[in-house]
Amino acid sequence: MFTSKVYIKSPIFIQNILLSSRAFIRKKLRENNDCEKLTQKLQAHEFNSELLKQYSDGMLSDVVTNANETVDYYIGTGTDIEKYPYIDKSTINSHKYEFVSPQKRGAVINGATSGTTGAPLVIPQNMQSIITEQAFVSRGLAWAGFKEGDKRAWIRGDMIVPLEQKKAPFWRYSYFENMIMLSSFHMAPANLQSYIDTMVSFGVQVIQAYPSSIATLAKYLEVNNQYYPGDLKSIVTSSESLSKEDKHLIETRFKCTVFDWYGLFERVAAIASCEHGRYHILTDYAHVELLPAGKTESGQQRAEIVGTNFNNSLYPLIRYKTGDHVVMSDEPNCPCGRVFPIVDSIEGRIGDYLLGEDRQKVYILNHIPKGVEGLLGSQFVQKKDLSIDVLVVVDGALFNKTQEDKLILNTKERLGASIKVSVKTVDAIPRTKNGKVKQAIREF
Ligand SMILES: [Zn+2]
Repeated sequence: MFTSKVYIKSPIFIQNILLSSRAFIRKKLRENNDCEKLTQKLQAHEFNSELLKQYSDGMLSDVVTNANETVDYYIGTGTDIEKYPYIDKSTINSHKYEFVSPQKRGAVINGATSGTTGAPLVIPQNMQSIITEQAFVSRGLAWAGFKEGDKRAWIRGDMIVPLEQKKAPFWRYSYFENMIMLSSFHMAPANLQSYIDTMVSFGVQVIQAYPSSIATLAKYLEVNNQYYPGDLKSIVTSSESLSKEDKHLIETRFKCTVFDWYGLFERVAAIASCEHGRYHILTDYAHVELLPAGKTESGQQRAEIVGTNFNNSLYPLIRYKTGDHVVMSDEPNCPCGRVFPIVDSIEGRIGDYLLGEDRQKVYILNHIPKGVEGLLGSQFVQKKDLSIDVLVVVDGALFNKTQEDKLILNTKERLGASIKVSVKTVDAIPRTKNGKVKQAIREF
């Protein structure tokens, strides 16, 4: 809707009405009685391992039974999950139609990945699946202290403000949701103070944001030696990887806890952080297996997330290899009391790596900008000859030649001294069609 000519050409107050009406319809469809009941059911077993196991075992059994009996790709595989083969994105792309279960009830919604890496994936979902997803979102918001009616800010990938618009306001209102929606596409340094001011004057209590968007604001506050002047309950992030450094910075500058959510379009795993900062694998959302994948630099065990989707009987994915990794934790339980298993952290997407001088893959890039002052955002773009352009959004007063040299040195330290590194200042880090920021881009 936001890219339609009608929306783009409308005056701002009409855009507010269009946006609010759309949100109203979506809310009515998703947040119905079924959703509320399911949310309560999910909340009932968070602190009770027996109930949780009962629920998860039941879901897994339903998934394999359905697959074994109705899904071409799986027919006759049996009801023991161990007998099922590992699959990945390429398996789905080459066997698209074999994963569809014939039990089509009601509307079918075809979602697709943005297709920034490789072929886009199309996965059909039924309404039940969308309502179930909403129940998990509602439970996640409850973890973050959100109550119905609280004032929210939304800084995610929606193109709510046309790109051609160069002057504030870079936000719109969703009246029925009590929400101010701010554009992630207009976050140039000169505009950032207006983002902070408008959230404060709206009286925002909970912020839902892409990590890159809220981190940009936190960095802005840091370089200006400010703290967010409003009173927030929490910040909820998802859809991009959030580094420990950025999470800490956001919590410090906004003076509240960040609740981070890892999920993926294929819906085969969800991991959520709680008020004690631990990441919990939501074993009622999906059946997750962790395949050992070597050690981290500090010697911790790393594992690949392999998941089985509980909530899309129309298109069941079993033992799907995500290509994403977690670092395992030694902690048996969390002070929050929830009984979901804990992981130490979630590592960047496998796509987010650069090649070092010996063509080795370097995944963890969060350390490179560390200690460089005046940086509001950064992205590494690597060319075929392995040279790197570091795109930076900076605070002009703080980011000087010394800081630039430091950034180049840090990059060479991780990737090799022979790699040519140049720093290029930009107004904003380019975003994908979905408004996301990729930490690293390889142009080959
Ligand atoms: Zn916890």
